[in-house]
Amino acid sequence: MATTPAISEEVLAKYEPVIGLEVHVQLLTASKIFCSCSTRFGDPPNTNVCPVCLGLPGALPVLNRKAVEFAVLAGMALNCRINETSIFARKNYFYPDLPKGYQISQYDKPLAEFGFIEIPVQGGAKKIGITRLHLEEDAGKSLHEGFPDAAEKTAIDLNRTGVPLAEIVSEPDMRSPDEAHEYLTRLKEIILYTGVSDCNMEEGSLRCDANISVRPRGQKEFGTKTEIKNVNSFRFIKQALEYEIERHVGVIESGGKITQETRLYNANEGRTYGMRSKEQAHDYRYFPEPDLLPLVVDEDWQAAIRAGLPELPEARRKRMMKDYGITAGDAASLTRTRGMADQFEAAAQAAKNAKRVANLVQSELLGRLKGRGLELEQSPVSMAGVAASADLVESGAISGKMLKDLYDLCFERNKDFPAVYEEDSRSWPMR
Ligand code: ADP
Ligand code: ZN
Ligand code: MG
Repeated sequence: MATTPAISEEVLAKYEPVIGLEVHVQLLTASKIFCSCSTRFGDPPNTNVCPVCLGLPGALPVLNRKAVEFAVLAGMALNCRINETSIFARKNYFYPDLPKGYQISQYDKPLAEFGFIEIPVQGGAKKIGITRLHLEEDAGKSLHEGFPDAAEKTAIDLNRTGVPLAEIVSEPDMRSPDEAHEYLTRLKEIILYTGVSDCNMEEGSLRCDANISVRPRGQKEFGTKTEIKNVNSFRFIKQALEYEIERHVGVIESGGKITQETRLYNANEGRTYGMRSKEQAHDYRYFPEPDLLPLVVDEDWQAAIRAGLPELPEARRKRMMKDYGITAGDAASLTRTRGMADQFEAAAQAAKNAKRVANLVQSELLGRLKGRGLELEQSPVSMAGVAASADLVESGAISGKMLKDLYDLCFERNKDFPAVYEEDSRSWPMR
């Protein structure tokens, strides 16, 4: 696979990249946003459809309450102001996977606005503004394989049509592909903590469009941007941005002008291609959706939703460093998922020395899991098992060397630490 070269020093000395991201996350409701069809992934094509999501004449949308609550929760987690009243709008365009000829979205009155995410940067943190978070329905999917005549025809699967999405639009606040990567990592982590989406990029439940421009350093106005659509991993987004920055600078330096357009990234070739000229908002002929009332999320409803907001990753890292005396690095890896943090805390509280538990997770558990491509859920040694091993070291019952051997045996036998310790300690020559 071709790899995109990182951006050269000369380019960065002269030009400053400006990046803004638009992220769609699929909300984890059981049914679609305006009808009761299932949102299940992977069902046979066109089995989860009804007159509403097919856009048949006379069918009326009914808003899914859970989708609203999930979107509001995400908005709160992203430090947004929740608008008590927001308005659904029709975004009109023609595409084979859009049966109604319009998508129900939100336009000038979105559900949430003015948020931010903090990303770590050299020597501190930087706030990336979140312009808005709004609710909308997904479109269907074009199929190019897996059915008879696939060589000549494109088929349409409308199971995804009407699945609820939250679109999260950032301010053009990022200044490098690394910052964009960091923003996406944080955003995904926060959304996963709230539980409103599984953020599974392979299944399309997290999708990102990246907007990029460059300007001569010192210039205040932004340059003309291009938009890179539907790149399917964070690493590829970073690579696509690096490529695109070099391309912009090349065009400008040779006296040309960047055309505002939508581009596609080909990861195999490591380059982007022009796809179409960018639509302007007026091309969509937005107008208020006449079949839906304004969405009102009053104070009481907001308070009830806010009560379900979990402790978020950044706050949790800080608290855990204080509560357990662990390092920033340990806290970062122990809070990668909410499940891991929960399990660690339970184990750390049960153990004699929480810090030792954190150390052993790092030194004995995570490396072995990574080496075998296992997730924590698949680990033979549970967090409780790590805590038990920490207590044995703490009390002097086993040495550091024995500890390592026992961890090896746990992974060999696919058994948890206490079990292997029981089995094996009897045969040990020394105690
Ligand atoms: P459009 O109307 O073309 O959709 P928006 O102003 O709605 O543009 O912005 C879409 C996304 O593009 C946002 O994430 C925003 O931060 C980003 N963006 C806007 N202008 C620029 C620019 N000059 N360079 C890079 N990103 C930009
Ligand atoms: Zn339906
Ligand atoms: Mg826009």
